[in-house]
Amino acid sequence: MPDTTAYDAIIGLRCLICGAEYAPDEVRYVCPHHGNEGILDVRYDYATLAARTDRNALGEQRSMWRYLPLLPVAEPRFIPSLDVGWTPLYRAARLGNALGLPHLWVKDDGRNPTASFKDRASALAVVKARELGEQVITTASSGNAAAALAGMAASAGLESVIFVPASAPQAKIAQLLIYGATVVLVEGTYDQAFDLCIEAANRRGWYCRNTAYNPYMTEGKKTAAYEIAEQLGWDAPDRVFVAVGDGCIIGGLHKGFADLLALGWIEHMPRLMGVQAEGSAALYEAWRRGTDEVTPITPHTIADSISVGLPRDRLKALRAVRETGGAFIAVSDEEILAAMRDLARLTGVFAEPAAAAALAGLRRALADGQVHPDERVVVLVTGNGLKDIPAAMRAVEGEGKAVRLPPTLEALEAWLARSTA
Ligand SMILES: *Cc1c(COP(=O)(O)O)cnc(C)c1O
Ligand SMILES: [Zn+2]
Repeated sequence: MPDTTAYDAIIGLRCLICGAEYAPDEVRYVCPHHGNEGILDVRYDYATLAARTDRNALGEQRSMWRYLPLLPVAEPRFIPSLDVGWTPLYRAARLGNALGLPHLWVKDDGRNPTASFKDRASALAVVKARELGEQVITTASSGNAAAALAGMAASAGLESVIFVPASAPQAKIAQLLIYGATVVLVEGTYDQAFDLCIEAANRRGWYCRNTAYNPYMTEGKKTAAYEIAEQLGWDAPDRVFVAVGDGCIIGGLHKGFADLLALGWIEHMPRLMGVQAEGSAALYEAWRRGTDEVTPITPHTIADSISVGLPRDRLKALRAVRETGGAFIAVSDEEILAAMRDLARLTGVFAEPAAAAALAGLRRALADGQVHPDERVVVLVTGNGLKDIPAAMRAVEGEGKAVRLPPTLEALEAWLARSTA
């Protein structure tokens, strides 16, 4: 099936609020009747896709583009050359032992080209910009989406203009600068950067990748669900734990598993478990109250990638959890730092704080009796630990095993004798 895509099987882009449906060339981002809130969902004719696509004939490509037959790409020649996706799904036996979960896997999306899950969406954004003939692409981001877009733009020869909070971690800002992006360090929150980016894009005609504004970001993110299913031999897991900020990743996982269910490629929907930081838990609170009305908060957490005052993809995120029988969970920064340590020590996977929150959420869910020991569970690690060195140093504060010594065997032996005594 080389170069077949799902573009011609798109029924329409449907507004989450009013249900109005648009052809792909009729709207650029959102439903015109609902301003920036009118997020669109790309809908497909599954009968057509099922008839011409075979899960056993996806080809050899070891990237998210192995699923091109299920992706809304009009021009495959615009796909950037960096290898995004097809990240490893590790069986986590030692971590599983420690948790009393024999069937546990860790999917390491920190292995993507710019070291986070966001590459999946940014790769598709670059394709869409090039299909429209745009030269400049922009996004607002807490850091990782920005780095991902800057990297994908560099790979495709596009210019990028990036809006990040001035407080974003240094490593993420360094990524932007090294990829040659124009970087606007917004003296304000991510939420303010988000609005400024949309205004600038509309004024200047730049192509805007903003999460929960550009309808194709969910479509890029859904590829992680496809991979989890395929890597488990098309036997979907019982639960997936994932960190949630804006809610686009969890919405993307929902979309991906829903696609596979509609195609008959998997037999059940995993329960999606959205993990938020206690200091940034607007979705958790709305879910607990059983409402779609999300109350904005002033976020405060060490997990910068999920530090969001008003989650932009809240409808998709709440739907993902409710419709799959999952749950939202809130974890403290202390639990996140402990999860960073334990994930690294028991699996060898080094996660940034937001990514480690997924494991902290699994721990909470186990403690609360929400997960049965026989369940098959996947923890999705969304970003690499090297993205935030100060957080990693905090995670080992007071209990790391470093010692400063002169370069002699005597000094080493003396210290070892003392420390093991
Ligand atoms: C963006 C991000 C998340 C959260 O994704 P949302 O779509 O905002 O919910 C989680 N972890 C990492 C590392 C991220 O970069
Ligand atoms: Zn609408």
